[in-house]
Order: sequence, then C-alpha cells, then structure tokens
Amino acid sequence: MKPAYLSQVHAESPYLLQLQAGFRRLAFAGALEAEFAEHHNRQFLRRMRGAFLVAMLLMLLFVVPDVLTLPDGVRQAVLGVRLGLLVPLISLAWLLSYLPAVRRHLQWLGGGITLVGGLGVNAIIWLAQREGVALPYEGIILATFFFYFLTGLRFRTAVLCGWLVFAGYVWVALDVGLAGEPLLYNLFFLATANLIGSVGCYFMEYAARENFLGQQLLREVAERDFLTGLLNRRAFNEQAQRVWRLAQREGKALAVALLDVDYFKRYNDYYGHAAGDEALRTVAQVLQGYARRPLDRLARFGGEEFVGLWYDLSQAEAEQRLQALRQAIQALALAHVGSEVAEVLTLSIGLAYVARPAELSLAQALQQADSALYRAKEQGRNALCQ
Ligand code: GH3
Ligand code: MG
Ligand code: MG
Repeated sequence: MKPAYLSQVHAESPYLLQLQAGFRRLAFAGALEAEFAEHHNRQFLRRMRGAFLVAMLLMLLFVVPDVLTLPDGVRQAVLGVRLGLLVPLISLAWLLSYLPAVRRHLQWLGGGITLVGGLGVNAIIWLAQREGVALPYEGIILATFFFYFLTGLRFRTAVLCGWLVFAGYVWVALDVGLAGEPLLYNLFFLATANLIGSVGCYFMEYAARENFLGQQLLREVAERDFLTGLLNRRAFNEQAQRVWRLAQREGKALAVALLDVDYFKRYNDYYGHAAGDEALRTVAQVLQGYARRPLDRLARFGGEEFVGLWYDLSQAEAEQRLQALRQAIQALALAHVGSEVAEVLTLSIGLAYVARPAELSLAQALQQADSALYRAKEQGRNALCQ
C-alpha cells in the first residue's frame, strides 16, 4: 500500500523516483546506490559486530563436545583450527570493525571472515571424517544459516559465501569418500539451506532498501518544499545555524541573500496560478545551480521568496555570483507582461555580506538582507542591493 506521505514529496525526489522505478534487482540508480551502501554499513555495523561475538562464543562452546568425544590426534587438529585459526581471525575482524577505514568496507570484512569461518568448519569436518570420526556435517548447515541471517551481509555477498562454502563441502565429502545416497542427501540438504538462506536474505535486503527509501522520503517531507524541492525555511534555519557556527570557528566569511520575484502577484493574475507554480519551479532550479558547494544552502523562504547562504567567499565574489544569478533568471526570458521593470520575469536581491560571522547572528544577517531587498524593490526592482 502506498503510504500517504508520498503525496507530500516533491516529484523529482531521487528517492521517490527510485521507489516508483522499483528495485527488484537490489540495485539503486546512480549515486543512490553508494548512499544506500553507506547507510547499510552504518545500520549493520553493530549487528555484524554482534555476529562476530556470537560466532566466537559458538566456536568456544563447541570445544566442549570436541574435548569430550574426539580421539587424541583428531582433537588436537580440530582444536588447532578452532582456537588457533578461527577464534583469532574472528577476534581480529571484530577489532578491525572499529577502524573507520575498514568500516567503510564492511561487506568485504564480513564476507571475508564469513568465508574463512565457513571453510574453517569444512576443514574441521574434513579433519575428523578423514580419520573415520563421524563428526556431523550439520555444522556446515548451521554456519550457512548463521551467515545468511545473522551477519548482516547483503544478498550478493552472502550468496557468494554460501555457495563457495557449499563447493568446499563437496570437495570434503568426495575427499573423505562419501558416495551414493549419503552424499546425495548431504548435498541436497546443504543446497536447500543455501536456497532458503538466499531467498530470506533477498527479502531482508529488499526490506532494508525499502526502509532506507522510506526514511529518506520522510526526511524530504520534513525538510523540503513540495513545489520546488528546495529546503524549506525550517530546515534552512537549522542547517544555516550549523554552517554559521562552522564559519565562526574557521573564521570564514558568509553571504546571506533574500531573493524575491518581481511583480509575482501580477504574474499569477495574468498567467494563472499553475503557470506561477511552474515559473517558481524553474526559478528554483536555476537558483540551485548557483549554490552547489557543500556548505552553500538555498531554500524557499516562503511564497515567491528564496533565501541563500554562501560560505567562504569575498564580498566581490558574492556580488558577482548574485548578479550572475539575477541575470540568469532574466535570461530565462519567461514572459511577464504585468512587470513594470522588464518584459520578462526578474528577481530583486538583498545581500548581507558577513565578513566576521562571530559578530553577527543569522537572524540579524537575515534582517539586513531583508532591508537590502526592500531597497532593491524601492530602486525599481531587478536589482541587487546590500
Ligand atoms: P514585488 O515585486 O513587490 O515583490 O511584488 P509581488 O507581487 O511579487 O509581491 P507580493 O508579495 O504582493 O505577491 C507575492 C505573490 O506570490 C502573491 C502570491 O499569490 C504569490 N505566490 C506565493 N506563493 C505562491 C505559490 O506557491 N504559487 C504561486 N503560483 N504563487 C505564489
Ligand atoms: Mg515579489
Ligand atoms: Mg515577496
């Protein structure tokens, strides 16, 4: 069922487009895939660490039956793999997961250690069975379910590990001389475990992707303006405060500007409200192109008024950028017969250049920009004032 909030999301949201396009192949388009991978890593980091700890605990727990049941030579070899190889490697993976550089490649780390673990269990079975000790092969089935459902591995990694471990067991079974019905049954059961795991893992990743899109869409509803897709005023205030504090710490200058469409009421009156909406969308798109750096912010302040914040630029650069922006709107050549200043849609801009953000608040800068905008309107519009 389509959640009701979807109708509140602006139409060009990449998350909305992805939701509409579907993702049955467990892949998002373009930059969204990398964003999801990062989100998934963050979300599943604790889960994977938990899985490492559980795996270690189980490895240690199985020492008990090993010690109680295995004959001398085999016991040493099996404990060697368990305690000498698997437990240290899993501990190492657990420690590595705390390094930020490794954390970014969590699937590789998890996949690698899962493969080692699965092949290690194979090795234990091989060591016992080649000496004629009937150590149950079901350990591999348990390991298979473990890494499909507990590790937080994504579908492709888990499937790859699952079938490589399956292949490893085929080798073990043939090497210890298993044949006929027992071989058939063992392989059949292990293949079934992989199949169940693969399907389960597919659904889990599908749900994780759906959940990711849902979260991002809700964030868009909260932070973005429905019509233009720009930040809304509340989100602007929040984010601009953060940028402001950064500029204070780093001693960087800021430019704050209010941008207001000229004679827009008449535009609506003449061309209709729908055309007015379309014009606002077009203007917003052009404005967005002038605030592309990571710390620049642009938002719809309300109605036909926009607000921008630019980080670390000189006064001349700020003026240059805003003049270019004003000209770009004029160059759109959106006919506006009701305008007294031009035949096309134009903007008036009020700029507050803040050389030292430590001495002024965002609210004060906005007030200055508003006064400057008032002067730009007074002077005839389609102008930049400060
Ligand atoms: P000025 O040059 O002095 O700014 O004149 P103006 O007509 O642009 O200013 P005014 O504040 O009188 O009118 C703003 C208009 O913007 C009125 C309102 O109908 C229109 N407007 C506000 N929000 C929207 C919107 O979302 N869509 C449309 N189509 N129009 C909007
Ligand atoms: Mg206006
Ligand atoms: Mg206005």
